[in-house]
Amino acid sequence: MAVYSDSQLGVYEQCPLKFKLRYRDRIKRDMEGVEGFLGLRVHDTLKKCYDDLRFTKTNSLSDLLAFYNKIWQENWNDSIVIMKQDLTQEHYRSLGEKLIENYYNRYSPFDADITIQTEMRIGFSLDDENQYKMQGYIDRLSRIQDGTYEIHDYKTTSHMPSQEDADKDRQLGLYQIGVQRRWPDVENIRLVWHYVAFDAELVSCRTPEAISGLIESTKSLIDEIESAQDFSPNESRLCDWCEYPDLCPLRKHFYKVEALPVNEYLNEPGVVLANRYAQLKNQEAGIEAEMEKVREAILDYARREGVEVIKGSDCKVRVTFADKLKFPRKSDAERPELDGIIKEAGKWGEVSDLDTTALIGIVEKGLWSKDLIDRVMKYGRIEGSSTVRISKLKDEEK
Ligand code: SF4
Repeated sequence: MAVYSDSQLGVYEQCPLKFKLRYRDRIKRDMEGVEGFLGLRVHDTLKKCYDDLRFTKTNSLSDLLAFYNKIWQENWNDSIVIMKQDLTQEHYRSLGEKLIENYYNRYSPFDADITIQTEMRIGFSLDDENQYKMQGYIDRLSRIQDGTYEIHDYKTTSHMPSQEDADKDRQLGLYQIGVQRRWPDVENIRLVWHYVAFDAELVSCRTPEAISGLIESTKSLIDEIESAQDFSPNESRLCDWCEYPDLCPLRKHFYKVEALPVNEYLNEPGVVLANRYAQLKNQEAGIEAEMEKVREAILDYARREGVEVIKGSDCKVRVTFADKLKFPRKSDAERPELDGIIKEAGKWGEVSDLDTTALIGIVEKGLWSKDLIDRVMKYGRIEGSSTVRISKLKDEEK
């Protein structure tokens, strides 16, 4: 099995196709979002702050800002993408300064703990057989006076999660497992996130049960990835930062036509077809509304006149009125009671039917034993299907 990192697992959860392109097919792209670039420069600056401290050098805030600006200039390049159109490189650069200042003012003179290592690579297995291997980089590992180890993570995002989210966070939970594997005598570990944009800290301590649960859920996610055949695209707001729009069936056409001049764009066969389809759909919606009105009028007429067949010029319309027996639907509150009565009477087999939609879900997610799924699959067959749906472009897609 491959060695996984939390970010690889996160990419798979976000979009299996992106995971495949990036980690299985190893297709390299030179695209970097400005947010990621900013995060790296802030991380590098805080690393310098703690690395220098280990050599007894305490940087002033202006030393750190000078370092930050130097590495910003040295590393900035044309492949860095700014998605927010009303913001510039300068906005992001000065945001980074603000984040460093927040951190500095909160923790200076940085003597609350002893740094063991910054940007520490940690490799470990989730199981004794060394099957499920993980790796990652801890932003900073430290020890406080009572012997507790702290795993620090710097966050430069503009979103601050809840305490509940922090208690469920997989990345630092995995790092805790790595630290415990490397130093089995360490009894207490605190996971600390520094949300520097909010000048705030989130702390989480994991119970042994929480750690066991994390090991199991991570192992089963790795199993899912290892056995995956179909790496489908999963569209989300993160697609705007994806480096593979030209290889993704959900974005490829956007990518192709966005580069065309307006006259070529309007004549591109896909654009022509989509526009024609939208036009017909609009007409269809108008016709359906009109049909519904006429249908209601026909029913009224038939009731009023006491007729069941209405003659037209070269057609006739038949109307039927009937009272039908109805029972609660699956989603209705009384339904379990009704099911219970029939089951209790031993008559369930006479009225129930196989729910093939539920069966498809069970087979696709592999929720039954392999043996049972294999037996069921003797009756399953793959049939091609297709749908065409239309929706409005979002503002950012126009
Ligand atoms: S554009 Fe979106 S859906 Fe397509 S591969 Fe990238 S992340 Fe996945």
